[in-house]
Amino acid sequence: MISAAEVEAELNQPGRSKRTHDQNILLLALSLVAFYAAGLISATWISVTVLVAVLLIHEAGHWVGMKYFGYSDLRVFFIPFFGAAVSGNETKVSGERRAVVSLLGPVPGVFIGIGCGFIYLKWRQPVLLQFAITSVLLNGFNLLPIYPLDGGQFMQAVVFSRHPFVETVFKVVAVLILTGLALQLSSIQLGILAFVTLLLTREGYFQGRITRRLRDIMNGRQIPETEHMPVEYIEAILPDLGAGVPEKKVKVKFLANRTRSVWRRIAQPIPSFRSSVVLLAVYVGIFILGIAGSIVFLGVNKALSEKAVITHEITFEGQSVAVEEIYRNQHKISRAHLNDHGLYDGFSTAWTMKGIKLEDGSWHNGYRDGPWHYYNADGMVAYIVTFENGRPVKDQIPQDDGYGLIDVPPDQWPFSVKHSSQNSPQGTKVKFQGN
Ligand SMILES: [Zn+2]
Repeated sequence: MISAAEVEAELNQPGRSKRTHDQNILLLALSLVAFYAAGLISATWISVTVLVAVLLIHEAGHWVGMKYFGYSDLRVFFIPFFGAAVSGNETKVSGERRAVVSLLGPVPGVFIGIGCGFIYLKWRQPVLLQFAITSVLLNGFNLLPIYPLDGGQFMQAVVFSRHPFVETVFKVVAVLILTGLALQLSSIQLGILAFVTLLLTREGYFQGRITRRLRDIMNGRQIPETEHMPVEYIEAILPDLGAGVPEKKVKVKFLANRTRSVWRRIAQPIPSFRSSVVLLAVYVGIFILGIAGSIVFLGVNKALSEKAVITHEITFEGQSVAVEEIYRNQHKISRAHLNDHGLYDGFSTAWTMKGIKLEDGSWHNGYRDGPWHYYNADGMVAYIVTFENGRPVKDQIPQDDGYGLIDVPPDQWPFSVKHSSQNSPQGTKVKFQGN
């Protein structure tokens, strides 16, 4: 049987798992390499880099908050296939501060993501949109009030830590939601998260029970401002400390950790009504911003995403010819014939998303060949460029009366025509098999 004195001695062990600064940097570097390696199995290095940037900003937010509120032994590390985390020890951290720390992860990412999305709309750099979507979605997801996501940690600190029964119900619901999501999305990661949450819920339940027991014992007495639980209280709850754990697994270290958690529950003040209202308002605001940002940028992404479809049509001579049609957000924007090598060959047309014709002309073996007509917004020919094997050789504009054409001298060709030479043949974006 372990005595209260032994537990107290364990609590007062100095320098518990202190790591040096160099070890922390090494952990971050190695875990980052492992995260990259894991990510590159199924994603491009640009996607993994975008994700790493989003995660670093997220964890940096938590880190700044934890540093500011005096957490010790702070470490940032990546978890391959999962994400990243900051760990740290806290001794005297109030519910308000925990709530702020949990919000500081997602908040910068939501704002930076939305900012990047707007910069994208101006600059049209695809990586900016990818960053915006990743940042807003990942941080928005983390704001969901599901324990142990950041939003769940926040709700736990501000609302549900007030009553152990409510806390347990909240966490059981989280386990059910995470399990449902894992099955719905066939996600192993979410499945593991659900299982870990189940274990946390069980442990939290026992801690809550022991805390209630200790409150009964203390019976309204003043809570001493000590870092650890005074030994007489450890003595009093000793019979309950090992609850829910097989006898042979009850070790001094385990009891010390439970004592620490129970003392935290007793000694840390829960947020006042006023600060709870303020914190909740901030949380709801940022959550709505995250959802709105996600919807807008996913919509932009959908509107810009293109899908190429290959069909076959029968020519007048009775031959089957492959045709590629490209759709942007369900609007057909181009149609071109393909040869047996998947190169553009034959007539092709391109339209705007509103169905207004942009250009038409012929390809030969992947190169523009012959006259290409370019149209203005009214559907009238704006100019005609004649190509030979992908090189522009003639630029013509219609006469004012609409009949006949005027040749434009090569030194007066617009930039777009001058630089329209092809370096390589063009073909379908779809993996192509000839027929
Ligand atoms: Zn977080």
